[in-house]
Amino acid sequence: MTLEDDAREYHREEPAGKVEISTTKPTNTQRDLSLAYSPGVAAPCLDIADDETLAYEYTAKGNLVGVVSNGSAVLGLGDIGAQASKPVMEGKGVLFKRFADIDVFDVELDLADPAAFTQAVAAMEPTFGGINLEDIKAPECFEIESRLRDEMSIPVFHDDQHGTAIISGAALLNAADIANKELEDLRVTFGGAGAAATATARFYVSLGIPRENITMCDIDGILSESRVQAGELNEFTEPFARGVDDGELEDAIAGADVFVGLSVGGIVSQEMVRSMANDPIIFAMANPDPEITYEDAKEAREDTVIMATGRSDYPNQVNNVLGFPFIFRGALDVRADEINEEMKRAAAEALADLARQDVPDSVVKAYGDDPLQFGPDYLIPKPLDQRVLYEVTPAVAKAAMESGAARREIDLDAYREELEA
Ligand code: NAP
Ligand code: MG
Repeated sequence: MTLEDDAREYHREEPAGKVEISTTKPTNTQRDLSLAYSPGVAAPCLDIADDETLAYEYTAKGNLVGVVSNGSAVLGLGDIGAQASKPVMEGKGVLFKRFADIDVFDVELDLADPAAFTQAVAAMEPTFGGINLEDIKAPECFEIESRLRDEMSIPVFHDDQHGTAIISGAALLNAADIANKELEDLRVTFGGAGAAATATARFYVSLGIPRENITMCDIDGILSESRVQAGELNEFTEPFARGVDDGELEDAIAGADVFVGLSVGGIVSQEMVRSMANDPIIFAMANPDPEITYEDAKEAREDTVIMATGRSDYPNQVNNVLGFPFIFRGALDVRADEINEEMKRAAAEALADLARQDVPDSVVKAYGDDPLQFGPDYLIPKPLDQRVLYEVTPAVAKAAMESGAARREIDLDAYREELEA
């Protein structure tokens, strides 16, 4: 059986799909039923009508995330439409549940128009504690997310943008340290200027990379001043193009300390790697094939090439599952009204810190006994490391409280113990 056939079988097995709803209260007696539904249910309804925050106490809202997509940029599959995206969105729900015990309704909307999509999602606020936007293509995803963040008072987070930014940001903090370079001195070149690259570049600025040290390239080459003048860029990419000369990726990568690939496979040559600064940092994250392979990048030079990819079969997999479950868990538990920059930074810093600690044997074993020790081949924790839950989650909750996003204060020590139990 091929992987494809196994996957068909896995999904088709009864009950079809990967999720179901289960009830959480007794439903054995007539009385139970009259508590669960009419007439008893009227009491919590009327309480919530008086005070909407009681929805968090009387309903599943506070642990329920909507994974919402229109199927316009699904994994590496492209615009396959809302219906075809459903296995992916159910799968995302599986990850939320498995890693952070968060319940998910997957919502596939057959709406290509950003205004219609935005309106539909905003109207779902009563149902959810948070919204994870998923697999929506650029540039529509920018407008959709920013409008929903304005309109909704629950966290709205487009994982394809910020997940990658945060996890690769954690890797960058540690890579810079290993290369013995200061963040404010790094010259960073991006291959790709789409959803993931744009958000990642903005996040790196918030981590301390000067905006003017970042150069972005798309399929037409460097994002430059002349392209700003020609009206080719959007409000998110423009700031990185101001005052920049025209050129190709090749020109932008020469002398760079860091290459961040969020484009397509195979666009970086060994020659380009050799043109980079000493101990170059290369995050080649195009899926399934990176901009340059791990082997080719390592072989290109004598000094240390610090390399990450999106793949699980090489060191330093930048995998979003290291982020979204814990970011939402922390945000939900303090009833944050958004996932802000401080919370994202706290997640990246907590991941970076965790990678510097000794790795428990159980985690090493789960990954085939390769030694996992802080260094060029271990920049970020592994997804199955259960410590991520109780290191990253409280850090996010703390940042939410300190930045004013939290609508509930919690005791962080007790919270951490609860997560660890
Ligand atoms: P996207 O919005 O479609 O952006 C793709 C970008 O790549 C566009 O700016 C495109 O330029 C550019 N591009 C295409 N061909 C290029 C070339 N030959 N040279 C330079 N730039 C080129 O897609 P996305 O969602 O940001 O994802 C981009 C890639 O990152 C995908 O391969 C995805 O799988 C990967 N990714 C990985 C992770 C991860 O590892 N954790 C997370 C997210 C995304 P034009 O706009 O000019 O076409
Ligand atoms: Mg996605």
